[in-house]
Amino acid sequence: MIRKIKDFLGFDIKEDKYKLSKDATFGVISDEKKPDKWVFSTCGYCGVGCGLYIGVKDAKAVYTKGNPKHAVNMGTLCPKGLSEHQLINADNRILKPLIRKNEKLEEASWDAAYRKVSDTFKRITKEHGAEAIGVISTGQLLTEEFYTLGKFVQLGLKTNNFDGNTTLCMASAVVGYKQSLGSDGPVGCYEDFEVADVITLIGANIADNHPILKLHLAKNKKNPKIIVIDPRQSKTSQMADMYVPLKARTDLALLNGLCYIIIEHGWEDAEYIKKNCNGFGALKKHLKDYPPQEVANITGIEVKELYEIARSIAGAEAALTAWTMGVNQSFMGTDTVSAINNLHLITGQIGRPGAAPFSITGQCNAMGTREVGFTSSLPGYRNFGDLKATREYASIVNVPEEIVPTQRGYKYAEIIDAIERGEIKALWIVATNPLVSFVNQDKLRAALKKLDLLVVQDAFYSDTAEIADVVFAAGTWGEKEGVYTNSERRCNRANKAVEPRGDAKSDFDIVLELSSHFQGVKELLFPSWSKPEDAFNEWKKVSKG
Ligand code: SF4
Repeated sequence: MIRKIKDFLGFDIKEDKYKLSKDATFGVISDEKKPDKWVFSTCGYCGVGCGLYIGVKDAKAVYTKGNPKHAVNMGTLCPKGLSEHQLINADNRILKPLIRKNEKLEEASWDAAYRKVSDTFKRITKEHGAEAIGVISTGQLLTEEFYTLGKFVQLGLKTNNFDGNTTLCMASAVVGYKQSLGSDGPVGCYEDFEVADVITLIGANIADNHPILKLHLAKNKKNPKIIVIDPRQSKTSQMADMYVPLKARTDLALLNGLCYIIIEHGWEDAEYIKKNCNGFGALKKHLKDYPPQEVANITGIEVKELYEIARSIAGAEAALTAWTMGVNQSFMGTDTVSAINNLHLITGQIGRPGAAPFSITGQCNAMGTREVGFTSSLPGYRNFGDLKATREYASIVNVPEEIVPTQRGYKYAEIIDAIERGEIKALWIVATNPLVSFVNQDKLRAALKKLDLLVVQDAFYSDTAEIADVVFAAGTWGEKEGVYTNSERRCNRANKAVEPRGDAKSDFDIVLELSSHFQGVKELLFPSWSKPEDAFNEWKKVSKG
């Protein structure tokens, strides 16, 4: 199915006519509304990582505008970035710590909130062991905050039943990269969109969800062939040269089928495989079950189209495949990610400008959480169980090696199972709202009722905060500083433009202050730390190389 973008949109993205407004403030700002200052920062909504300025007037965030010098967005922001200042001033902000008394959440002092949580954590640890405490966090914190939280949870509280909501969206990409490449570091970047001559998008509606990436596509002078593989028609499928509307849940078969065709015709890059890959024989054996007609039957895509896709990717000067949640959150997502990697490895379409299997992230710091690890790995992509890496990490952060976990604890959904079984007694939820986002709501609600203590740390009065026993009032984007790592692993600085509203505190301060309620923990883990820069300086050492 061949479709031309201009047939659908009335203009051609390749003619560079698709531009969002460069004037991020949408017009002239009148004198009385003019900000007193513009603070350099980064958008905190999504993983694209656009550079922006926050306009501040009378100590309030009143505007945002794109940073024209930023390599990611070149001055443009999508509507979310353009309205981001509004979230700071939202009505449902939590402005004070809250403690549940007589069935109602009541305002409390920070000290009372910390004491209630630390006393309960200590009791539970004494009675049931530290692993009876679970922590679920997010891809929304700044890297310094996530690093500090993870260090405190694993080495201070000594529980490894700690996971992020990023597991629900990124676990497939993480494990797929690890399976294929040995490390979870995405190998693509946005510039690849500018120089690839074949761009395949699988389960990714970038036109709606990552619109800024289209600006990079528009800079491509090679007239790239755009292949969109997606069961759903979308704005992105409308911009394709070739739209592949495969049946849902058949992308793994499609990718295996493409590899079959490539090998069948000798289109693989034998030299690259010999130099860089192992397991090629086993792959060939595995692919025997995916001859073109069989794959056509499974996917609903005609054989001649399968050949066309395979030939395009194998024959490209530089082929880029990018995917998002359509792959990561799909049936057999991990294997699908590995199959994308296989396709790129056997064709040598990796490690050159424009050639990469590239996972695009969703949350603003999903990549930061992956780098900092603590859930699927130790910080700096060190694998659990790798004793050399464990020793190295312990020595850099100056803690006894024995307290560093050697294997992963329960994953997000397993934490909920463990609460159901009565194994986990206290849960600390940071910057995520499972009562909206977790798949099995009935199960979750029933499980949360069994807890001795539910702590929610959030900037907003979420559904989950409403049922908490203790609520830590957190600052949000624009009220705190640190860095985010975007999809392409660019580390972007986000600055504080205004003070946290009410009595809210940055997530960094909350973790640090809570840690001082556990004997010897702050002294061991965070000696003389007082600001995010202290965490960043340690992170620099931990992530070196
Ligand atoms: S594309 Fe993402 S990072 Fe850029 S402005 Fe929109 S929400 Fe923010």
